[in-house]
Amino acid sequence: MSTLANTNRSLSDWQAMAAGLNIQTGLFIDGHYQSAKRQGSFASVNPATGQTLAMMALGEACDVDAAVANAQVAWRDGRWHKLAPRQRMDVMFNWANLVEQHGDELALLECLDMGKPITDVLNIDLPDVLRTIRFFAECIDKLEGAVTHTAANALHTIVHEPLGVVGAITPWNYPLLMAVWKLAPILAAGNCVVLKPAEQAPLSCTRLAQLFVQAGGPAGVFNVVNGTGQEAGRALALHHDVAKITFTGSTAVGKLLMGYSGQSNMKRVALETGGKSPQIFMPDLYDLDAAVDRAVGGIFDNAGQVCNAGSRLLVHRSLHDQFVDRFVTRTRELYQPGDPLDPATTLGPLASHAHLGNVQRRMDQALADGATQVLPTPAFTGPGAFCAPALFVGAHNRMAIVQEEVFGPVATVQAFDTEQEALMLANDCQFGLAASVWTSDLNTAHRMVSALEAGVTWVNCFGDGDMSQPFGGYKLSGNSRDKHASSLTSYMQIKSSWFNLQR
Ligand code: ADP
Repeated sequence: MSTLANTNRSLSDWQAMAAGLNIQTGLFIDGHYQSAKRQGSFASVNPATGQTLAMMALGEACDVDAAVANAQVAWRDGRWHKLAPRQRMDVMFNWANLVEQHGDELALLECLDMGKPITDVLNIDLPDVLRTIRFFAECIDKLEGAVTHTAANALHTIVHEPLGVVGAITPWNYPLLMAVWKLAPILAAGNCVVLKPAEQAPLSCTRLAQLFVQAGGPAGVFNVVNGTGQEAGRALALHHDVAKITFTGSTAVGKLLMGYSGQSNMKRVALETGGKSPQIFMPDLYDLDAAVDRAVGGIFDNAGQVCNAGSRLLVHRSLHDQFVDRFVTRTRELYQPGDPLDPATTLGPLASHAHLGNVQRRMDQALADGATQVLPTPAFTGPGAFCAPALFVGAHNRMAIVQEEVFGPVATVQAFDTEQEALMLANDCQFGLAASVWTSDLNTAHRMVSALEAGVTWVNCFGDGDMSQPFGGYKLSGNSRDKHASSLTSYMQIKSSWFNLQR
């Protein structure tokens, strides 16, 4: 029975459940929780209160070595990839069912650790987590190889084989979902995995690994090492026994990972490294009010901490003033900061106080560069890392606020006069993750989508889609595609086998 979307609970219900939570602090290696070898620890802090939730085991290079060694043993003896596809499917479906049954607990961990409103975790993150695991579970026995045409004395087969041990390094904005976008295809393909979650949100993924084991997943197949990026993440990416690193995070770290690969074993490196997504509002769009509502959600959901956040709003000059007025009004109506445990809260804090400082510095820079803030940021008092939604007008493409990823609730509006100008503004950016066009003309939509330099494009919507949609970017947004079935084979390699049948 689904426990998700349990939004009839009140704030006091969730507070009582939070008080009774049993937070597991260990690393998860070889099927059980373990303390770090050197006994180090780090604080997991609730960004809504500034209070320490737990002291977490701090994984270091020696712990990464242990996790990879365990995963290698599991890989070599074939306890996972040599199972019949149906057996692996059963484990994956059991795993999804257990995640669903423990949805309230996982939602609480995510909400407390990262500050995401509980309603969002229940209605967005967890349903997507379940969809992802079940989608890739379904793929397991659908994968086929090929037999090519040969002379009668030969047989040539082409099959996909798993890579071995894969390392996954994930961010804090959707801790469970971004991990599962990697884990589900990695595991469905038959690999073993060592996951290094973001140190800002270390609570939920070890529990995910424990549920995998409870679901019948063999020990050592799915391991989690919490720790810092510079120590544990780097050790994983430099490891000679890791066949591939898959990553979602910053461009700067993505570049480092490519270097680590070259310095070690030339492991494959799959990167999703953020964006600065433009949304183009053409003068003939169908419904300005509906479009503005999506624009508001496209940047302020999850407090703007979204890789594909629609942070650059390019609005035809004829709509500009009306657009800005409505955008400001709707933002004030829709986004109320509050305790993330309160089901009525629509705006949580940023994931950490350090990140709040980064976002504030970028807004200060925008003002210093000459942009005008029309959605003012009231000073929040109290211990939480809250940041009010901000909108800047009068920005231009040479400003950092237009070019750099803020990863917070900050949007810019730029007016344009022609389609060509809109496309030039949209594409004049180092990122290319996502983009959208709002127009009622099919020809305009086709023309503009084809001209946009982005891996994911939307027409008359933003953020819509399902598991059939490959998610990843052009340019400095990375080289990988999550979600879509091709993600499964991206964690596999091709083996060609030529059989001489003469004797
Ligand atoms: P952000 O700045 O949004 O926190 P990062 O790219 O720094 O994004 O972090 C994303 C993930 O990359 C986290 O799990 C983090 O620990 C990890 N990470 C950070 N630095 C490194 C590094 N030098 N090597 C490997 N992983 C890293």
